Amino acid sequence: MASKGPPHWLRLVKAPVMIVNATGDILVAANAGARRILMLPADLALPCPLDMAIGDEASESLHAAAARRLEFRLVLTCRTRGGFRSLCFDAEPCAEGFTVTLGHPVPDERTWLESLEEVAAGLPIGLEIYDRDFRPLLCNEVSDHFFNYPGIRMDHHDDWWSIGFPDEDDRRHAFIEWQERIAEAREDQSRSRSAEWKVRCADGLDRHFEFRFRFVGDLYTVVFWDVTERRRLEEEWREFACTDVLTGLCNRRHFFEQGEIMRRNTDLGHEDLSLLMIDIDHFKAINDQHGHAVGDHVLRVVADRCSKALRLGDLIARIGGEEFAVLLPSTGSAESANIALRLNRVVADYPIECGSVVVDARISVGGATRTHQGEPLESLLDRADRALYAAKSNGRNRVEFSG
Ligand code: GH3
Ligand code: MG
Ligand code: MG
Repeated sequence: MASKGPPHWLRLVKAPVMIVNATGDILVAANAGARRILMLPADLALPCPLDMAIGDEASESLHAAAARRLEFRLVLTCRTRGGFRSLCFDAEPCAEGFTVTLGHPVPDERTWLESLEEVAAGLPIGLEIYDRDFRPLLCNEVSDHFFNYPGIRMDHHDDWWSIGFPDEDDRRHAFIEWQERIAEAREDQSRSRSAEWKVRCADGLDRHFEFRFRFVGDLYTVVFWDVTERRRLEEEWREFACTDVLTGLCNRRHFFEQGEIMRRNTDLGHEDLSLLMIDIDHFKAINDQHGHAVGDHVLRVVADRCSKALRLGDLIARIGGEEFAVLLPSTGSAESANIALRLNRVVADYPIECGSVVVDARISVGGATRTHQGEPLESLLDRADRALYAAKSNGRNRVEFSG
């Protein structure tokens, strides 16, 4: 008997449609869309056994479903020339058997949210998603770890502020910044905005977090990570870079950085500025006589005594082996000479004990006061250095000032 051929309407349908026989084991016809989605060879002559088109397993499932002769919908994994593909078969009984519309299976919303939750749970950073009214839709495990405060239910993003920021000022600043950032994020959805805050966590500890805010349509998303340790290390390194390890005073680099700021500020305020250069007398002899460890101890004690004898705004630094420099803001020549004498005495008047060793350390001090506004620090240093040289030449353990 000659085949009637595919019904003429099949060619006109844009969606991928095929016809299978009533027992669900023969592919009777397929339009261009169905051939494409099933990746059928162009020269495949139809009708043909269904398993040739979609593989044994998918074919068997469809055959079983067809036995009931009712409409059915199946998601089947088909073996195609392009590999295995998951396709949706939407079948309606018809005169030839079944008309089957093919499509890509669309997971329902719930499946997506579940998948997203699973992905978010495994992330090493915090992720929170809120709806348009800032009600939480998703908070991942990292978020729970830091911000799931014991005994507190948070149904709204606003609930967080008073718990995360117990200090009222911190809270107000953070909130204002947040409002600015999210306004920008809403305006330009292609970019996230960031802020860094110290926040009270669920375990009662305060931590620094970097936050990134972004809107995806109406959804408000926050991503965050803990930067406490990084900030602590940075602070430690900053301090390390500015400090002389032996004495704990500022180091040379920091002294010149800060000194330049102090020079400019006193210039602006038309204030005096004085500088003292200090050098321990015959320090080499102390080292030679008692050893390097005693020498180090003497350096520490001299540094400590001098810095304690200074005022709060004065800047003292160890700028060389046994050399110190002191900047005295808002201080003229008479006052700085008094301070220099005080430093000389706090060292000389009390012997330095180091175990069983007692050292009578002495210092020479050279001072200079700025003669005119705008005098560079280098010039002040140069004059104080020359005064120090004079103190050494005039017998040491004394103070000389640049004329
Ligand atoms: P003057 O009275 O002319 O200043 O003589 P001085 O011996 O103090 O000066 P000199 O420049 O000849 O010697 C300074 C010594 O300081 C030499 C160096 O070994 C020692 N020194 C430098 N840095 C340190 C340090 O960190 N620890 C110790 N213990 N000694 C140091
Ligand atoms: Mg020296
Ligand atoms: Mg010396």
